Amino acid sequence: MEQPARLVSYSAMQPTGLPHMGNYLGALQNWVKLQEQYDCIYCVADLHSLTVRQDARQLRKRSREVFILYLAMGVDPERSLVYCQSAVPAHAELAWILNCYAYMGELNRMTQFKEKSQKNTDNINAGLFTYPVLMAADILLYGANIVPIGDDQRQHLEICRDIAERFNNLYGEVFVVPEPYFGEAGSRVMGLQEPEKKMSKSDSANENNIVYLLDTPDVIINKFKRAVTDSGSEIKYSPNDKPGISNLLSIYCAVTGESIDATEAMFDGKGYGYFKLAVGEAVVERARPIRQKFEELGKDKAYIDDLMARHTERTYALAKRILGKVKRKVGLLS
Ligand code: AMP
Repeated sequence: MEQPARLVSYSAMQPTGLPHMGNYLGALQNWVKLQEQYDCIYCVADLHSLTVRQDARQLRKRSREVFILYLAMGVDPERSLVYCQSAVPAHAELAWILNCYAYMGELNRMTQFKEKSQKNTDNINAGLFTYPVLMAADILLYGANIVPIGDDQRQHLEICRDIAERFNNLYGEVFVVPEPYFGEAGSRVMGLQEPEKKMSKSDSANENNIVYLLDTPDVIINKFKRAVTDSGSEIKYSPNDKPGISNLLSIYCAVTGESIDATEAMFDGKGYGYFKLAVGEAVVERARPIRQKFEELGKDKAYIDDLMARHTERTYALAKRILGKVKRKVGLLS
């Protein structure tokens, strides 16, 4: 991994809560698949979490849990790097430099900034505004060729590409300009109670809206049984007039690998209740081994501590290379 011969895939997730099925189907499950073809680097993005007030103890606990969950899901530490963002100071350093190459106007257009500012009117901090610049630094530090993300991060990846191109135009080919990677299904998983809105960790008011990867089988089944459906009784993919059923169809296909057409045919005439249970059961089967592995790994503190330390060191060594180059280009003493 020290001399990447293969292309690089980079992605991250905030440890603001445990991952839900949106995170898993939209991003995390693709991380695992991409290991076959790419050198992968996966980050627990704790610095990003600070843009919204966190309980310090809870954040530390969650960061560790998310690290363990990456492994439980199938990120292989022999092939890929896994680390925590704040342990590699190069992220904050590069983010500062890139802040000076990002424009207020482009950051002002970010939908996520607008949405989060509306939700946190008492804490519209500068970090929330420059979040996409830190994300650009994360990705560009490792020369990532592709970034597996959910649909909601499309705009942030665009700005990352713009910053990279702007910098390269000034200083030569310093950064690799990354491409987004979206899975075939599941890139936008909607809430089970509010299928017009994406499933989001920050909407924790209605627990039935969100299915967590570590929910127990009973909880998962109950959440799916209570999922909002639409008028009529046909199981048909049509997001505009059947948002509830269309979301369930997407989840089923993302979990089982079936196509929408084949799934519609399979459940033709079966009714909503039957279908909801089938989706719940498919999700339970997908989540079960992950939950078991998560519990097993969580007990091995020494192994996790050692892995974290080794991977942080290797990741930092990689990050320093591009950071050093950037510093030289812009005129900083190293
Ligand atoms: P975050 O929890 O915001 O750090 O997001 C981690 C990853 O999950 C990102 O790649 C997001 O694009 C993806 N993601 C978050 N919510 C959803 C969703 N509802 N559907 C699909 N992907 C999602």
